Amino acid sequence: MCGITGYIGKKDAAPILLQALKRMEYRGYDSAGISTIHKDNVTIKKDIGRIDSINEKIELGKAEGSIGIAHTRWATHGGVTKENAHPHPSCNQEIVLVHNGIIENYQKLSKELSNNHEIISETDSEIISHLIEEEYNKEKDPLKTLKNVSKKLEGSFALIVIFNDKKDEIYGMRKYAPLIVGIGKQENFISSDIVSFIDYTDNVIFLEDKEIVRVTSNSIEIVNFDGDKISRDKTHVAWEAADISKEEFSHHTIKEIHEQTSTVQNALKQDDEKFKEFVEKLKSGKNIFITGSGSSFHIALIFRKMLTKFVNSPVQAFLSSEAEEYIELMNNNAILIPISQSGETADLLEVIRNVKDKGVTILSIYNTLGSSLSRVSNISLNLNCGPEIGVAATKSFTSQLAIVYKIIFELGEVKNGNEMIIELSKKIKDVLSKEKSLQEIIELLNESNDVYFLGRAIHHPIALEGALKLKELAYIHAEGMAAGEIKHGTLALVEEGTPAIIINPKDESYDDTINNAAEMKARGAKIIGISSENNEVYDHWIEIPQVEKILYPLIELLPLQLLAYYTAIRKKNNPDYPRNLAKSVTVK
Ligand code: GLU
Repeated sequence: MCGITGYIGKKDAAPILLQALKRMEYRGYDSAGISTIHKDNVTIKKDIGRIDSINEKIELGKAEGSIGIAHTRWATHGGVTKENAHPHPSCNQEIVLVHNGIIENYQKLSKELSNNHEIISETDSEIISHLIEEEYNKEKDPLKTLKNVSKKLEGSFALIVIFNDKKDEIYGMRKYAPLIVGIGKQENFISSDIVSFIDYTDNVIFLEDKEIVRVTSNSIEIVNFDGDKISRDKTHVAWEAADISKEEFSHHTIKEIHEQTSTVQNALKQDDEKFKEFVEKLKSGKNIFITGSGSSFHIALIFRKMLTKFVNSPVQAFLSSEAEEYIELMNNNAILIPISQSGETADLLEVIRNVKDKGVTILSIYNTLGSSLSRVSNISLNLNCGPEIGVAATKSFTSQLAIVYKIIFELGEVKNGNEMIIELSKKIKDVLSKEKSLQEIIELLNESNDVYFLGRAIHHPIALEGALKLKELAYIHAEGMAAGEIKHGTLALVEEGTPAIIINPKDESYDDTINNAAEMKARGAKIIGISSENNEVYDHWIEIPQVEKILYPLIELLPLQLLAYYTAIRKKNNPDYPRNLAKSVTVK
């Protein structure tokens, strides 16, 4: 999930790479580092911590050289230490690399290399720099070297490599992890994410899996792992770089929560033809599967519940990391709907790799432009919500939901669907403006170690999402549950004062859920009801406006986002960068 980047051109590389790292910090923030080459000198600067504090300490942005690479890490192998931070040099310090991914056979390779190489870190990544050194010493040809190395590495990787004796060239290669080349004027970039170089260029080339690229300041040459030359057209990406600022908000997360008034409307702006085709394919599907991870999986659950009523085929929702039996079930009549904010989630892309050859139709929903998911899909719908920087999904979740509504309205021939969502966005503003009224509940959550979120039917996935937000942002153990399930175990955990958040707007599930809330209360739980209607069972009532029943999931989620955010603030956590997490989960 690390962010990797490289620059080659006429300018000083280090300040450009530093800015790129800041833009990609959402991908990992355990440690960071930069390496540049200037007049035969290879500089490596790296340390643990957030980029700003590393920069204050060792001036990452000050290093000579107009070629360089950089890395921001989310540790998979080896602790969060300076030694394990990237970039990793070869023994002779002549070759330096940054890596995103996991090398599955690194222990075996490490054993083989340890006779001739001094291995300093505990990472899987460092092994690659020694392997490259070993191969490079044979022929001094970087492309051949990387091609040979690619055959020896198992697992997933995006790599950027520089060679001291090839100061005018920078190399990248990828297999199951993203890598994009940015085409500038007399300068070129290479990176995990367009956002890192978007200030310089919006012309890009997407590398595909099993490709190697040689980049100079004015040329780009791609070959595949077999050494065949590949010609690839550039793509022009439209991207609002301005959206990356926090504006007047103290964190990206709260800015993104407030943006939802407009982002749910933006999600509706789909290319008409493409959207209709997406829906037609769904209608004709014989077997529909929806998959995602984390928040996107919660959307998959809601989508399944709604879609089942409108299509004749069975609909299943599954976690991308638990796909085995679903993959078995998919044949060439099947439709797979992968949902992902980043479009780079490793588990999800693996599902697609496993079913693509069976002729399964891939209809995806994603946010990050140019992501791998959009490129492997038959049809893809973009969330249009702009970059989401806060690590916890907020606006991307409601945008996904808005697209689900749009699809359901189309299938159900609801004529005024768009108008309903536009009306709803006005109500979003009202709900978000009531953040002050949540103070007492925030205090209660702040003092609690365990919180339960209960909901039935279409509110169950929102209970799961609410619990996930509280875990991610406030570091409080939280469990989202189907309300009817409490009596099958969870009631044993309820003590005097245990907070139970009941998601219960006035619809068909209202009465049953009230009964479950009463059962919790009878055992001492403090009941926080999120509803369009008050009830004497509630110790605290968070009022939400009345809306069309199908739209409640979107509106009832908002107080849950606010509770998680403000409890995080109360606890002095940084809600944008929760500990141990990263946004784009590009490793399995
Ligand atoms: N496996 C590498 C490390 O732990 C890279 C991790 C990643 O890409 O998330 O340093």
